[in-house]
Amino acid sequence: KAKESGRNRFELYTAKLDYQSEVVTLENHLRKAIERNELHVYYQPIVNMKTKKIEVIEALLRWNQSNIGFVSPVQFIPLAEETGLIVPITKWLLEQTCIHIKAIHSFAPHMKVGVNISAVHFQQDDFVEQVSHIVKANNVHPRFFKFELTESTIMPNAEESVQKLVQLKQYGFKLAIDDFGTGFSSLSYLHRFPIDVLKIDQSFIRRLSLYSDDATIVSTIIMMAHNLHLAVVAEGVETEQQYAFLKAQRCDFAQGYYISKPMPFNELQSFIQEWDGYIK
Ligand code: C2E
Ligand code: CA
Ligand code: CA
Ligand code: CA
Repeated sequence: KAKESGRNRFELYTAKLDYQSEVVTLENHLRKAIERNELHVYYQPIVNMKTKKIEVIEALLRWNQSNIGFVSPVQFIPLAEETGLIVPITKWLLEQTCIHIKAIHSFAPHMKVGVNISAVHFQQDDFVEQVSHIVKANNVHPRFFKFELTESTIMPNAEESVQKLVQLKQYGFKLAIDDFGTGFSSLSYLHRFPIDVLKIDQSFIRRLSLYSDDATIVSTIIMMAHNLHLAVVAEGVETEQQYAFLKAQRCDFAQGYYISKPMPFNELQSFIQEWDGYIK
């Protein structure tokens, strides 16, 4: 019996080693991903439900790894956060989006770009200096950037967060709360943060049907957000029914497969131009 448990322990041990070496390999690959041009920025349109125009595009990372293939951000963002690689990656992404948004402004002069910010990055002392430096060096006005932060990013150090958000606002950056409704906070604290936009998490939209509790939750979030003078984005809008419900509830913006999946930069221009005048 002792022998058997000994073997089990050994198996566990090797399994753990394998797992760790896999993580290390992935980490080493991720370290080199930027210089190897394996990272790409995809963009997903966000539509103003009143004007039907695309006003914002959200930047979403894609990692196309030569020997493994496509790796989802759900898999590599946590690793990038643990290893601190998220900082150089986000700086690289910001530079890319500067180049891209300038090109887009030649045919859509008011387009804004949404960029996801990780907690580990936001909590660095010089975060505000870092991002304002990059957009300035690339000659893009901060008002064309909307930073998306989750409740769990800003809540742990609420006082410090308020200061940083105020500084970002003074530069002209737009601010959004991402994945709203999945954290532990309530709308009541939001007035303390100088944010512009609330993005309702897609889990609420997915379960949306006129007769479910989620419909009540969604319409309540929209109403309260409007009372706090925040614009509302619904994420993960996949069907005409969801879109119609959100429009009836006076939701301001919609994002999701019903409009478009995220796409590479080179497909964006024709998509935006074909969309103009096209009414959902
Ligand atoms: P997120 O910020 O909540 O982004 C929305 C995710 O929902 C994206 O997944 C998008 O492709 C997906 N999505 C959009 N519309 C629909 C829809 O109608 N149906 C469904 N089923 N999904 C939809 P993606 O691109 O896989 O990104 C996943 C997450 O990875 C993002 O969630 C974000 O948290 C993180 N992420 C992606 N890019 C970055 C980045 O540059 N920096 C950081 N820190 N995180 C990022
Ligand atoms: Ca986001
Ligand atoms: Ca989200
Ligand atoms: Ca998310």
